[in-house]
Amino acid sequence: MLIVMHHEATPEDVEAVCARIRKLGFEPRPMPGEQRTAIGLVGNDGPVDPARFHGLPGVLRAIPVSAPYKQVSLEWQAAPTIIELANGTRIGGDAVVMMGGPCSVETERQLMTTAEYVAAAGATVLRGGAYKPRTSPYSFQGLGEDGLKLLAKARDVFGLAVITEALDEASAEKVAEYADIIQIGARNMQNFGLLKHVGRLGRPVMLKRGHANTVKEWLLAAEYIVHAGNPQVMLCERGIRGFDNVTRNVFDVSAIAVAKTMTHLPVIGDPSHGTGKRELIVPMARAAVAAGADGLIVETHPEPTEALSDGQQALYPQQFHDMVRQVGQVAQVLGRPLAGQ
Ligand code: PEP
Ligand code: MN
Repeated sequence: MLIVMHHEATPEDVEAVCARIRKLGFEPRPMPGEQRTAIGLVGNDGPVDPARFHGLPGVLRAIPVSAPYKQVSLEWQAAPTIIELANGTRIGGDAVVMMGGPCSVETERQLMTTAEYVAAAGATVLRGGAYKPRTSPYSFQGLGEDGLKLLAKARDVFGLAVITEALDEASAEKVAEYADIIQIGARNMQNFGLLKHVGRLGRPVMLKRGHANTVKEWLLAAEYIVHAGNPQVMLCERGIRGFDNVTRNVFDVSAIAVAKTMTHLPVIGDPSHGTGKRELIVPMARAAVAAGADGLIVETHPEPTEALSDGQQALYPQQFHDMVRQVGQVAQVLGRPLAGQ
């Protein structure tokens, strides 16, 4: 439910509505706007009768929010959420944001080399995992805090923002110390304790879609983070499980377009995990942007054949460069510039 106030409503009128919401056992979320204040009602799991607010001083109308993923829905907020990073990158606005880097941070040389060509190609955000969710416990698990330190160094040298994954509450605290964006991976999309925790850390979060989750479940997972107090959430489509192993996953481009009709949160495409195959990344990157993605996150490595994880889905430096150029052309057709260009 959204209670929209008259533009001449007084702070006392707003407080009276908040008090009525609390009395009903729910939480008020006042949202002052340029013209008027709207007060969101959260905490209800079913419909609330709008008539309970009719006749209160200053109330213009009460609008039921039908989506269960309330606060991230377009009913709740029509304007897109824009997330602004320290290096000036704005995610969710007109510009399409390019994020690139290795699957895992491996060495200083590897990361600095990658950061340099990623920035030169026109990307503004550097990716790289320091805490890795590997299927096998015997696979490379990441450098941990040493990896975060390398990311911070690359950010300072090349003016990039940094995104990296948190696996649990302890690593989330560490990631929040060093990175601009906390990545919640596909395997943790419904780790509700972790979602609540990153909701309290005050850093932007990128929430990847789980391997076998519906778009609605994905949005409800985002709702956990927003409800815990962090509105700076972006979604990332990274492919879902299918029956055909011709690709690693089924890159669900339609989910990008669908999500844009359901939520005001930015939506990012990850064609690396989406396809698992280097030669499919560039066409799927173009497709994701054509479908309305607000940005891309793509794996790239100076020597993919030597990578400690996901080398087969990492672009060579020149391919990364070409991808940014092509995606820029697709974005241009849609009237969108690339961020930072
Ligand atoms: C990654 O970004 O390297 C990663 C592990 O992604 P996902 O959670 O989508 O598998
Ligand atoms: Mn990876």
